[in-house]
Amino acid sequence: MTTTTAAEAPTRPSGPPRRYQMYVDGEWVDARSGETFESVDPFTGAVWAEIPRAGAADVDVAVRAARRAFDEGPWGRTTATERARMMRRLGDLIAERARDVAVVESIDNGKLLREMEGQLKGMPAWYEYFAGAADKLTGETLPSDKANFFIYTVRQPVGVVAAITPWNSPILLMTWKLAPALAAGCTFVVKPAEQAPVSTLEFAKLVDEAGFPPGVFNVVTGFGPDCGAPLAEHPGVDKVAFTGSSAVGSSVMAGAAKHLAHVSLELGGKSPNIVFADSDLEAAANGIVAGVFAATGQTCMAGSRLLVAEGAYDEVMERVADRASAVQMGDPLLADTEMGPVAFSEHRDKVESFIASAREDGARLLSGGGRPGAPELADGFFVEPTLFGEVTNDMTLARQEVFGPVAAAIRFADEEEALRLANDTEFGLAAGVWTRDVQRAHRMALGLRAGTVWINSYRAVGPMAPFGGFKASGLGRENGMETLSEYTELKTVWIELTGATRDPFSLG
Ligand code: ADP
Repeated sequence: MTTTTAAEAPTRPSGPPRRYQMYVDGEWVDARSGETFESVDPFTGAVWAEIPRAGAADVDVAVRAARRAFDEGPWGRTTATERARMMRRLGDLIAERARDVAVVESIDNGKLLREMEGQLKGMPAWYEYFAGAADKLTGETLPSDKANFFIYTVRQPVGVVAAITPWNSPILLMTWKLAPALAAGCTFVVKPAEQAPVSTLEFAKLVDEAGFPPGVFNVVTGFGPDCGAPLAEHPGVDKVAFTGSSAVGSSVMAGAAKHLAHVSLELGGKSPNIVFADSDLEAAANGIVAGVFAATGQTCMAGSRLLVAEGAYDEVMERVADRASAVQMGDPLLADTEMGPVAFSEHRDKVESFIASAREDGARLLSGGGRPGAPELADGFFVEPTLFGEVTNDMTLARQEVFGPVAAAIRFADEEEALRLANDTEFGLAAGVWTRDVQRAHRMALGLRAGTVWINSYRAVGPMAPFGGFKASGLGRENGMETLSEYTELKTVWIELTGATRDPFSLG
């Protein structure tokens, strides 16, 4: 493994906080009120950036700009081929600047530089995939049931898209919305999370450089209720694409319902990672660590419920506990760090309250459970990778999303019980299944009520693979050709071929 020494690691900015502006209608602007808020580096606990605090008036300006760019601007007249060319240029710029943007993202949300850099380096694939799709958004000609009609369909952009994104992977989760939106010909206003807004502003510089016309891509920065809510509710928005918690998703949907905008929601999960005794237990234990401790557990798809067959339970617990206690916590900018802090102080309080509830409910602590003792980690918002055994599926830890490095292990007796426990949740985002039995793998894949099932793997995503949730984990799908229907309207055109007149009082 290559490791970055402290000397080679990027340096944190020193001096006063960096001052950022928002990107609206192709210009860099402050909030109209002049107000700002601070973004904290979760490793040092220090304020490192100052960001405009946008409110409803700023949202209105951004949505109007996006509306104009869609209805009147040159964007509405670009061909799919031209849009695709610009998207590829943007992808190239992302590849060139991947490390710089990743450093900013890592300082802003505390996730490992190597994870963020990996995401950024993989991100051009999304722009390439959807650039390739832009000129393939075809309609159909339809066999008519009436001899005098020719009927066809056309796919057209849905219009102005409002994206509201979370702090855990701000640019990747925005890209899952932006790439199909641009391919379809939509314009875009994004509000990143207040805890980690900076990388989206850095990304706007790349959009600007790629040559997208003013108003096509806009960023407003602010808090949920005073910036996110007016964005979802703005009547100039045609579609709201949200990633975040189920509670906020529901309120965003209610806001969008006021003006009947389209909505897609990518929400929380309590995803089961299911280990059968016939699996390769070393690979399964590694997959469990990847599922719940990678990214400090701060991913919607975290495999936070470990369902483990009786016959494999002790060995799997031992392997996972050993690996958890060896996880190297540290500065997320260093390449040998395996787990950074959680993203902000209140979030650590929340994660710790779940740990306390599991103890109270009688779960057995097998590893972690506290804060690391190392003095160099004292300023960061660290939580140890934590494994609880003997959890039952009715405990709070098995039912609610922690969004942190806390795994809840539950025993099962047979496949039927595994499937029942796996589906006994309000969520349905993802699931992992570890088995060498190919028939069981397919039975489980079909039986699981989840949007993604990984067999002998966990946490793989790609631009071509639809992602989204069953049940309270969401509405609609991101990625894959499927998501293009979220960003387009289907129009049906009827052409009368004969000039014949008809009875005006009956359905044609
Ligand atoms: P997480 O649990 O990942 O922090 P949240 O659901 O709290 O996710 O936040 C996701 C995004 O939703 C953030 O950009 C946040 O500012 C925004 N948000 C929070 N509350 C609201 C709201 N009432 N209306 C619209 N957006 C909101």
